[in-house]
Amino acid sequence: MNKKQTASKSKQSQTESKRPKTEAKKTKTESKKTKTEAKKIPSAGKTKSLIRQAPTSKSQAGQKTKKSGNSSASAKPAAAVAKASRSQAKQIMDALLSLYPDSACELVFASDFQLLIAVILSAQCTDQQVNRVTEKLYARFPDARALAEADLEEIKAIIKPTGYYNAKANNIQNCARMLITKYGGKVPQSVEELTILPGVGRKTANVVLGVLHNIPGWSVDTHVQRLSKRFGFTREEDPLKIETDLQKLFPGQDWSKLSITIIWHGRRLCYARKPACGECPLQSFCPSSEV
Ligand code: SF4
Repeated sequence: MNKKQTASKSKQSQTESKRPKTEAKKTKTESKKTKTEAKKIPSAGKTKSLIRQAPTSKSQAGQKTKKSGNSSASAKPAAAVAKASRSQAKQIMDALLSLYPDSACELVFASDFQLLIAVILSAQCTDQQVNRVTEKLYARFPDARALAEADLEEIKAIIKPTGYYNAKANNIQNCARMLITKYGGKVPQSVEELTILPGVGRKTANVVLGVLHNIPGWSVDTHVQRLSKRFGFTREEDPLKIETDLQKLFPGQDWSKLSITIIWHGRRLCYARKPACGECPLQSFCPSSEV
C-alpha cells in the first residue's frame, strides 16, 4: 500500500520531562515558524466560500484586518477566556472540521520509517521545507539501515535547511540505529516504545501513531497549545496538562483528526501574533475573537 500522504504539520513547544534536544528547542522559535508557514486554502465544501476569503499570506492578513479596523488584533489573554463547556467546544470543533474537511498530515513519505524521520525533522521547520529535504534524503537513504550506516556529515549537509541540523542529524541517525537494533528495523506502535527513540517526544509519537495507525492521540504542538487556550479548552501551559484537558473534552476517536484540524487553523488564520479574526468564520462565537 502506498502510504504517500500529504497533510499539515506544525511545530512543537514541548516541555515533556524526557523531551529530546531537538524538540526542546522548538519553543524558542515557534513564533518564527508560524511566520513562514505557507497558508493553504481549502478548495471544497460549503465553507470553501468562507475560507476562500482568507488571506494567502500573513502580511495580507494584516492588511485586510487593518481595513476592518482591527489592525492591532491580538487574541485575549488565556486568563480572560472563560473555560469552554462541552457544547461550546463541540461548536468550535464542528466549525473547524467544516472549514477544513480535508485536513491531514502534509508530510510526504513512503514508509513508516520515512514519516517518523520527517516528523523529527519538522521541529522548528515547515512541512514544505521538510518535504523538500526528505525528497533528497530518502533518495540517498530510503530506509533505517541505509540511514544508520550513512556518513553523518552527508546527512547534515542534506538536512541543513530544516535548521538545528547538527542535533537533528545525530538524532535521526541514532533513531535509525535503534530501530535496527531494538525493533528489527520497524517503527513501533506505542507511545512508550516510540519515545525511547532519539529525537522522539510524545507529540512526535502521537503524530506518527495517528497518521500511520489512526491511534487516537493529541499532538500538542505550538498551534494546539495556543488555540486551545484561545478557545477556552485549557488554561494550562504544560503540553501534558493541555493534553489531559483536551482528552476530557473530546471523544477519543477524534483526537488525531482534531489535532491536525486545529493545527491547520493555527497556520492559516489564527496566527500567534495577530490572528486574522476579521477573516475568520469563527469570529461570532470564538471567545478570543477581537472582532
Ligand atoms: S476569531 Fe478566529 S482567528 Fe480570531 S482568535 Fe478566534 S479562532 Fe483565532
